[in-house]
Amino acid sequence: MMNGKDTPKRKILVTGGAGYIGSHTVKELVKRGYDVTVLDNLSNGNMISLDGVKYIEGDIGDYDKVNKLLQFEEIDAVINFAALAYVGESVSDPRKYYDNNVVKGKAFLDAVVDSGVKKIVFSSSCATYGIPEKIPISEDERQWPVNPYGWTKLMFEQMMKDYDEAYGLRYISLRYFNAAGADADGSIGEMHDPETHVIPILLQNVLGIRKKFFVFGTDYDTRDGSCIRDYVHVTDLADAHIKAIEYLFENEKSDFFNLGTGEGITVLELIGAVEKITGRKLNVSLEDRRSGDPNALVADNTKAKIVLSWNPVHSSIENIIRTAWNWHSRK
Ligand code: UDP
Repeated sequence: MMNGKDTPKRKILVTGGAGYIGSHTVKELVKRGYDVTVLDNLSNGNMISLDGVKYIEGDIGDYDKVNKLLQFEEIDAVINFAALAYVGESVSDPRKYYDNNVVKGKAFLDAVVDSGVKKIVFSSSCATYGIPEKIPISEDERQWPVNPYGWTKLMFEQMMKDYDEAYGLRYISLRYFNAAGADADGSIGEMHDPETHVIPILLQNVLGIRKKFFVFGTDYDTRDGSCIRDYVHVTDLADAHIKAIEYLFENEKSDFFNLGTGEGITVLELIGAVEKITGRKLNVSLEDRRSGDPNALVADNTKAKIVLSWNPVHSSIENIIRTAWNWHSRK
């Protein structure tokens, strides 16, 4: 039995484990009995102190460090969260994104295969699909990104695919839709600087940190004219990573999955939900579209449900906003 009394704990290296989704996943891995080592450059850190988690400060692009670490710690599998993730910044400063996510990503993959580790779970994104032809988006939708961030994620997916065929690296690529919410106990949550994501921005507006909330576009071809997104709770994403790791240990087979709820919600509907849950009125201003925003992104999550037995049970919009509010209002 996995992680039973007589079997050694499985050892997982989590890169970017101090980040938003990484820290929630580290917490979940520890809860389920894994031995966790975090490699993080602490650029956007949300470090949590957990018994049994080793934090190593370092960069995924440092081939020698990663190679030695994987061998010294006798790592069984890696989860790679370390990446830059601002779509807008990737447009204005693409070299930074190709450097971090692709060039350093390749050094990391090389260290993984050279050290004999054969299993990797990767944070990919619905941004790899670009403007989808069909909603909800299934995994066989054409991948054609519309910004450098999406291209860096797609390039990493391609490298894993080629390394699988050539070197036997088995991977699971998890394509997140809109990650949101915070841990139920309020100890970790979403924290970006600068903040560009809609739910933290809405809550900063409630808290008076921002004077106005700007709705980016009200003339989209959607039910109320504002953009539709599929918000998925970070605890459900963390759970998907555990299921992906288990799948790799059990099946030794590569695959990729969309992680979303299958339900889309508009920006105007989000405002209503935030007002209801916080009991406060927002100061809203209707603006022009933000460039590069597709009108609707909703996941077809059938494959993750069937193959990984994953279910986004924490992802009602009420629970997402309630846990995010709990985290933002206690800071
Ligand atoms: N959005 C908005 N106002 C804001 C920030 C975001 O109206 O201050 C909208 C944005 O146009 C998009 C949705 O909220 O339709 C989600 O944006 P976010 O940046 O959170 O995630 P994305 O879908 O771009 O990854």
